[in-house]
Amino acid sequence: MRLPTDAADAALAEPAALAWQEGFARLGPAFYTRLQPTPLPAPYWVSRSERVAASLGLEPAWLASDEALQALTGNQLLPGSAPYASVYSGHQFGVWAGQLGDGRAIMLGETDAGLELQLKGAGRTPYSRGGDGRAVLRSSIREFLCSEAMAGLGIPTTRALSVTGSDAPIQRETVETAAVVARVAPSFIRFGHFEHFAASGDHAALRALADYVIDRHYPHCRAAEHPYAALLQNVTARTAAMAAQWQAVGFCHGVMNTDNMSILGLTIDYGPFQFLDAFDPGHVCNHSDSQGRYAFNRQPNVAYWNLFCLGQALLPLIEDQDVTLAALETYKTAFPAALESALRAKLGLANPRDDDRTLFDATLQLLAAQRTDYTIFWRRLSHAVAQGATAATLEPVRDLFPDRGAFDTWSATYLQRLAGADLPQAGASMLAVNPKFVLRNHLAEQAIQQAKAKDFSEVERLLCLLQTPYDEHPGSEAYADFPPDWASSIEISCSS
Ligand code: AMP
Ligand code: MG
Repeated sequence: MRLPTDAADAALAEPAALAWQEGFARLGPAFYTRLQPTPLPAPYWVSRSERVAASLGLEPAWLASDEALQALTGNQLLPGSAPYASVYSGHQFGVWAGQLGDGRAIMLGETDAGLELQLKGAGRTPYSRGGDGRAVLRSSIREFLCSEAMAGLGIPTTRALSVTGSDAPIQRETVETAAVVARVAPSFIRFGHFEHFAASGDHAALRALADYVIDRHYPHCRAAEHPYAALLQNVTARTAAMAAQWQAVGFCHGVMNTDNMSILGLTIDYGPFQFLDAFDPGHVCNHSDSQGRYAFNRQPNVAYWNLFCLGQALLPLIEDQDVTLAALETYKTAFPAALESALRAKLGLANPRDDDRTLFDATLQLLAAQRTDYTIFWRRLSHAVAQGATAATLEPVRDLFPDRGAFDTWSATYLQRLAGADLPQAGASMLAVNPKFVLRNHLAEQAIQQAKAKDFSEVERLLCLLQTPYDEHPGSEAYADFPPDWASSIEISCSS
């Protein structure tokens, strides 16, 4: 028998699905624990995102294979992968929670495309605390679809490559079944990673982490007078941009703890999130959030509060409180500027004007007072403008308001503001920013109920619509309609 050399061995082996490079792992063992995912019995496919597969350079044939099914469930290690779970801390519901960490997410590694691949629900880790390390099918489908929906909307987000399921029972309020989401992002580092090392007083580790994030994700900060303050300022700007897009589309995250805040300004950790149906600024989507800390209209302030926690954590590196505060100040201009620019686009206004804010406030106040369906309002308005904004074309928008007079007053001001604009062009640009399809709770719920019966067609259907939510998708009107009455009784909590 021939004893192959290492090189010959590699040449004889099956082509690896993914090539890996050392990323976060280079920071060393203070940052993570190496471990293996815990297998699940008899896994099955629920859904896959071809878009994410393509970004990883994965062959469609591989993604259809049993090897992929086993690997993305955590049952079989991909060649060259050295999995780990990372440690972080954080503030939960405004209170310091101490050490948390990847309690059920296991990182397979960073691919040579610079993307981290992580399995959520792949078993216990040293950071699981009392948890079982698992995720249920219900919440995994929600995370998978919402990641891809946010990407389709153009909102920064972690991505999802796949969901796989298993009939293994998982105890939540009731017994459910297990699932694993394969998540993808350039980095899963959270504000809480920084808070962790600041709280333990390990400033060498804190500096190593900040240097790593700068080198990998914010290299231009290196040349700044205060590189760590520049990092804080850039994270602040990205977080402000993300929060503005959430508000503009009517997205409620539900659990904006500092451990759920991405250092890249990505939407991360989809739990009890909700896209608003009727516009209710004070809406609380998380039934565990009894104080309403993460109500829809509080999100922008919470993001700022969370950035302060990050600033506090970076202070030992920045070494100057005024410089730290100045970096955080960015939020006060970046957030309103981003929101106003989004609202201007939603209204089809090509150029800014001094009194725009009055129109924005009047619009949102009208929607709130009349509890108008948020997504349908903007979409109908876009169509009306595209068709010339005549009384006849505005009729479907007017019909959304129980108080027609209030709408008429508002629309008179709006039409005045639009005067002279190229309406077909303004309408076309509005249709490109006001989605027809968002992942409403009841749509996710219907797909989940069918998936529980092993029919994944609704998951596929939603994935297709949500990946291109600004397209009309003729024949899919039901998915763009008002929520049914039973939607208001769906209760989404942190339990996932
Ligand atoms: P979340 O707010 O859902 O992102 O989770 C907060 C913390 O709890 C994180 O450290 C999670 O890893 C951990 N966690 C949540 N659910 C579980 C679970 N079922 N098993 C282990 N850890 C969990
Ligand atoms: Mg989390």
